[in-house]
Order: sequence, then C-alpha cells, then structure tokens
Amino acid sequence: MTLLKRLLRYLLNYKANIGLVLIANLLYAVFSIFTLTMLVPFLSVLFGQVQQVVARPSFTLSTGFFIDTFYYYMGVIVSQYGQMSALLYIAIVMVVLSLLSNFFRYLGMFWLAPMRSGILRDLRNDFYHKMLLLPISFYNKYQKGDIISRIGADVLEVEWSVYAALQSLCRDPFQIVIYVVVLFTISVKLALVSLVVLPLMGYLLALIGKRIKRYALRSQQLLGKMSSLFEEAVGGLRVIKGYNAVDHTFQRFRHQNFQFYRTTKKVFRISELGAPLIEFLCIMALLGITMVGLLWVPAESMGQGTAFMLFFVVFARLIVPAKALVSTYYTMQKGLTAATRVYEVIDADEQIVECNNPLSIERLEKEIVFQDVSFSYRDVKDEESCDVLHHINFRVKRGEVVAIVGPSGSGKSTLVDLLPRFYDVKFGQIRIDGKPIQQYRIADLRSLFSMVNQDVVLFNDTVYNNIVFGMDNVTEEQVIAAAKIAQAHQFIMEMEDGYQTQIGDRGMRLSGGQRQRLSIARTILRNPEVLILDEATSALDNESEFLFQEALIPFVKEHTAIIIAHRLSTIRFADKIMFVRDGKIVESGSHEQLMKLQCEYYRFYMAQQ
Ligand code: ADP
Repeated sequence: MTLLKRLLRYLLNYKANIGLVLIANLLYAVFSIFTLTMLVPFLSVLFGQVQQVVARPSFTLSTGFFIDTFYYYMGVIVSQYGQMSALLYIAIVMVVLSLLSNFFRYLGMFWLAPMRSGILRDLRNDFYHKMLLLPISFYNKYQKGDIISRIGADVLEVEWSVYAALQSLCRDPFQIVIYVVVLFTISVKLALVSLVVLPLMGYLLALIGKRIKRYALRSQQLLGKMSSLFEEAVGGLRVIKGYNAVDHTFQRFRHQNFQFYRTTKKVFRISELGAPLIEFLCIMALLGITMVGLLWVPAESMGQGTAFMLFFVVFARLIVPAKALVSTYYTMQKGLTAATRVYEVIDADEQIVECNNPLSIERLEKEIVFQDVSFSYRDVKDEESCDVLHHINFRVKRGEVVAIVGPSGSGKSTLVDLLPRFYDVKFGQIRIDGKPIQQYRIADLRSLFSMVNQDVVLFNDTVYNNIVFGMDNVTEEQVIAAAKIAQAHQFIMEMEDGYQTQIGDRGMRLSGGQRQRLSIARTILRNPEVLILDEATSALDNESEFLFQEALIPFVKEHTAIIIAHRLSTIRFADKIMFVRDGKIVESGSHEQLMKLQCEYYRFYMAQQ
C-alpha cells in the first residue's frame, strides 16, 4: 500500500490534469449512456412499437417523466412526419451524442498523456540519479544487467500499470456507478438479482491476483538475469568467440530464457482468466435476471418488454468497464511488483554519506595519513577478521611520490580506493591535513584526486569530449597540451577527424594503449592535487612505456602522487616505495634502501630483471 502511495505521489505534480481527466471521463460516461439508451427508442420505432403517450406528462423528477416526455414527442413526430422522419431524428441525436462521448473520451486520454510520460520521466530520473549516488559496493551485490533491466523493463511495467490504472480508474468506476444507478432506476429487484454474483466474483479475482503477483516477481527477476547475460555476451564477445564458447554461452541463455518463458506463460494464462470469468458470471446473472424478469411486474408507464430490453442492454454494457477494471487490477499487481524492484534501488542505503556541515577542501596543504587502517569488503565486527587490509600505517607528504608494489591480490587497489571514499574504512582512520576524510564534503574530497586505472573507462563520444569529460571552462590548447604529455596527441591527429573523432562504444575503435593514454590525458588535464596511477601503463609495450615515462615522470614529480605499478623499473624514481603483501605493508623505503635490504622488494625486482 505504501508503494502505491509513493507512486501516487508522483501524480501530485499533475493535479490539474487529474481533475480534467476526471471531468472528461465523467462526461464520456454520461454521453455514452445517453447514446445507448437512444438505441431502445430507435429499435422501437424501427419495429413500430412506439408507445402511445397521448398527453404531455407533467413534470416530476423521475426517469418515468423523461421517458414519457420523450415518447410523447416521438408520438407527435411519428404522427406528423411519419416513421422515417422519427428514425432520422433519433439517428441524428445518436450521432451527435456518440460524437460528444468519443470526443470526451479522447480528451481524457489527451490529458492523461503528460501524466503517463511524466511518471516515466520522474521515476527514471530518480532511479538514474540514485544509481550515480550509490556506493561502488552496491554494484558488487547486483549484476549490471539486472540494474539495467530495472530501469528499463521494470520502469516500463510501472508506467504501463500507472497508465492503465489512471485510464481505467478515471473512467470505469463512473461508468459502473452510472450504469448501476440506471439499473436500479429501471428495477431494484432485477438490479439486486444481477449484483448477487459480486462477492463471488471479488473472491475469485483476488485469488487470481495473488498468484499473478507471485509469478510476475519471478518473471521480472528472470528478465534481470537475462539482461545480465546479454550484457556479458556483448561485452565478452571476443572471449566467447576466441574460446569457441558460443554453444556453451547460448545454452546458458537458452536455459534462462526457457525459465522466463515458463513463468511468463503462467502470468499470461492466469491474468487472462479474469475476463472470461467475469463474462461467465455476468451471463449467469443475466440468466437470473431473465428468470426474475418473467415474474416481474412492469413499471407503470413503460411496457414490460421495453424496460426489460433496456435493462439487458445496460447490463451487457456494464460488463465492459467491469472487465476493464479487473484487467487494470491485474496490470497493477504486475506494476507493483515491478515497482518493488525499482524502489529497491531507489531506497538502497547510500552508506557513503556526507556528514552534517561538511568541511570544504580545495588543496592538499600538508599530508595524507593512513592510521591503523583495516578493511574488508564483507561486513565484519572486529578488526582481526578484516581480510583485505590489516593495520596499514603510512603518510604521503605534499609533493611526494609514493609507490605501492606487491603481488596481485595483495590489496593495492583497495588501498587507493579508500581515499576518494569509494569504500569507507572499517577500522582506523585516513586523515587529510589532520582531519578524518569523512569530515570533508565528498565532492571536494573526490576532486582532490584524479585516478587512472587499469580498466580504462571511456564513453561513446569524441576524443575531445572524453578528455574534457565533466570539466567546464577548458580551452582547446589545454586539451592538446594534456594529450601531448600523455603521448596521445600524435595518434589523435592521425585519426580521421582528429580530436572530433568518435571513439565508439567504450573506445572500441582504439587500441588498449591508446585508450590508456586518453585516460591519462584526462587526468593530466584535471591537474589534480593528488595523482593516483593504478597500473596506469600496463597496456603499453616496453618501448612506448619508456617513451611515456619520459614524458610523464616530470609531470608526476610536480605533483603529489601515489603510483601502483607492476613493472618496478617504472617507479624507481619514487620518494618512497611500499611493498604490500596480504594486505600488510611489509617493507618501505627508497629504491636503494629496499634493494640494500635484499628482502621481498629485492627478490621481486631481481625476478623482473
Ligand atoms: P591488488 O590491487 O593488489 O591486485 P585488490 O585490492 O584488487 O588487489 O584486491 C585485494 C583483495 O580484495 C583480493 O583478494 C580481491 O579478491 C578482493 N577484492 C577486490 N575487489 C573486491 C570487491 N569489489 N568485492 C570483494 N572483494 C574484492
């Protein structure tokens, strides 16, 4: 219910539209009932059964008065102009009424459109914004494809159900109420008989609704898994083909798709049960009406046959909105299930939150200190059960270049990921200029650092925009200068449109080394306070790495920098080198000092020589 309320809150921005839709639908219901009731006199005239109301009836507020007045004038028209003219009059009135009813029906839809698209927009904006805010640890739990399926298929399902609900709830209840009132006006007894089936109907429909909800949830989850498989296949096509794993990959997908097929089949079958059930029960009710109708005493001024016929027509017409309301109910069940999945992301705990009254920071004045830092990707209660970093202590002074080396999996990347608060330390503290990093504004803190990773992230845009990414007020000269330091200018100029060349999805059209150089140019352009290079040159061959070092080292030396490198020859110049093994700093000092020690670093270095 709270979920429904939250969805309805999106509608509050469209209050005026809701009012207009309601009015339009009310008018549609009124005109459509008039169009219908005209059918009876039309048929009566056609079959020559016009009632003879000789005197003009005196006014009373009853349906009898209107019907009698109508028949009085019909009688006058038939006697003066003949049956054909009467038919013509009725036909014209019916055309006008039908035109009006359909006009209002369209107007209802017209005013509904901004609400429908608006909800889709608002929900996607909220979702996307939250997606950007959520900590990286959130994405360890959820598969990318599943998230994409939530913002795609699930949001669409919500939109569809909100639309169906709005459309139906603004129209069908009016129609039902009006029809029911008309039915009661014609005959209370008959109306009561026909409504006897209602409780049974309600019970069966609720039963079906529950099952739909269950299967719908399963089918959305399966769709999420399938999206992940899509995502994996598109991203890993080279490996799939290279390892001849097309069949294997396809079998995995086929299996998942079969599960999805089975579940959606159930959802479809169950939700289609509602309409035939309603129709069948309504026919039963109609039979009941006929039985009672046989024993029924007619209204005073109306022929038994005509009133009975009118009752039948209106009742049959009642089935349409009733069925629509039921389908809406089922669509809403599916929509609510999808909404649960959407809100799971929107409501996810941000974990990395800014403190109240955060401090701003633009420069690193003195130093960064890691003070007894321990960390685990899991939730742990005590320091000793941390499995990634253990009691890390070191400091990086302004202007220093610190290198972190060690075997892979020893925790080097994790260590630098703690600085921009991609993850928060579990135990201990990281201090910048004497204050714990949690006290700073997150955006300020992050802009102190600029990080180049092994996994280069480029966007489907031009070379220029990929370097500038997210920065304002940058001149072309600055971009070119950054590209020159990153040794990227030359290959960029060789591309067909130079800096304006589109680089394709994730830079597909570039080599690994070129991608890495672009991402370094991006970092250089930012001229950050602290430069973090995490295996930044791993995709370069020895020769280009050498050239690259020549250009990059002077730039790095001008900055405070933390460098993670596998090839030790590239970090010899660092002021301090720390050797990390199993999440602990086991040695630290300059290259010369560590070589003299002839321990871990020495062995690592010699192995590479
Ligand atoms: P390195 O950079 O030295 O190769 P990492 O910092 O990447 O090492 O990884 C250290 C340890 O943390 C490894 O055992 C790795 O499996 C684990 N790890 C890394 N990233 C995650 C993550 N997102 N979720 C869970 N465990 C992780």
